[in-house]
Amino acid sequence: MDFELTEEQREFRHLVHEFVAKEVKPLARHTDETGEFNWQAVKKMGPIGLLGLEVPEKYGGAGVDAVSAAIAAEELGWGCGSTALAIGAHNTLGLGPIVRYGSEQLKQQWLPRLATGEGKLAALALTEPGAGSDLQGGVRTTAVKEGDSWIIDGSKMWTTNASIADVIIVLCRTDPAGGSHSLSQILVPTDTPGITIGPPEKKMGLKGSPTHAVTFEEVRVPLENLVGEEGRGLHQTLATLDSGRIGIGALAVGLAQAAYERAVAYAKERHTFGKPIAQHQAIQWMLADAATEIQAARLMVYWAAWLKQQGKPYTKAASMAKLFATEVSERVCRNAIQIHGGYGYSAEYEVERMYRDTRLMTIGEGTSEIQRLVIARHILNEW
Ligand SMILES: Cc1cc2nc3c(=O)[nH]c(=O)nc-3n(C[C@H](O)[C@H](O)[C@H](O)COP(=O)(O)OP(=O)(O)OC[C@H]3O[C@@H](n4cnc5c(N)ncnc54)[C@H](O)[C@@H]3O)c2cc1C
Repeated sequence: MDFELTEEQREFRHLVHEFVAKEVKPLARHTDETGEFNWQAVKKMGPIGLLGLEVPEKYGGAGVDAVSAAIAAEELGWGCGSTALAIGAHNTLGLGPIVRYGSEQLKQQWLPRLATGEGKLAALALTEPGAGSDLQGGVRTTAVKEGDSWIIDGSKMWTTNASIADVIIVLCRTDPAGGSHSLSQILVPTDTPGITIGPPEKKMGLKGSPTHAVTFEEVRVPLENLVGEEGRGLHQTLATLDSGRIGIGALAVGLAQAAYERAVAYAKERHTFGKPIAQHQAIQWMLADAATEIQAARLMVYWAAWLKQQGKPYTKAASMAKLFATEVSERVCRNAIQIHGGYGYSAEYEVERMYRDTRLMTIGEGTSEIQRLVIARHILNEW
């Protein structure tokens, strides 16, 4: 891989960075403190492509390459974890399956409004009270054919964007016999009768990214709302998560970069024992490790994105990038607090929020344990 970004990618980074610095980052504290979703900024994201990053231009999207999409996720993460998670889930989890597997009818019906910001966002509901890492064995939400409709019943947990979405892609069991070909993805508009979206979950961080339990009671949608093939839902979901993991890795790099920048600035300002703490070797080492690890994580994320862009297999690379970048981010945010001393533990300082926000990244879209499992399976099969 050529590690130099193209001119187009550099220009895109500049555009997104400027936008995030103006519209997103200044509101990050307010978003966290109030739990209000930053619609003000999100409504302005359509024209610069952030709401349809990988949606082809003919459906109103930006159609950017995978590295540029990762750059956008990174810049958003640098600005605000909550907003970045919502926009990441919209692009990779919500729109991804429609772009990759949806029928022409579904694409034309939904992509233009979702990718331009004319409508609200998109979401993906996989997790259930009894199923997270083990979707194949655990999913109990069912979809049964009746005439020209699917009838959906069940409960989902932790659905990012549910209350601010026009559509939710729901992973349902369509074959009660079970097994890897028993699940399907079905697009459900959120105004369909029978859907109940629970109150926002009270979370440790990412408070401005609404997460909800969603229940489905005899929810009826047309058979045409099947996304992709019946029985291929698990396969489609795993492929969607491969892509999402690059996005989470990128978001984590952005959060780490933001915390690192705060730590460097503070280390130069704060004096102890007659000199700036930046002149104490213990502080320098934390900063040096952070700079090194962030750069390594960024390159791993771009590498996975580049493989995706080339049409090469990238499951292992995406898991490696997600695993490494999210664990680096947690360490960097932790040390950014350490460098701030007692002030770092105060909500007055941004690093406190960043640490809470980044904690999710080693859990959502496949925990670190699941990433290690995926990587181990690949390397053992390659042997
Ligand atoms: C803020 C937030 C947003 C989310 N957004 C979404 C969303 O938009 N859509 C959605 O569908 N889900 C979403 N999730 C759910 C998230 O993807 C799951 O929480 C995650 O996949 C883990 O599943 P679980 O919570 O059921 O944990 P479990 O699967 O019960 O795992 C519990 C523990 O066991 C470990 N473990 C499980 N299996 C193994 C194994 N085979 N080997 C080793 N260790 C194992 C796990 O790593 C973990 O440490 C979100 C969660 C949060 C907190």
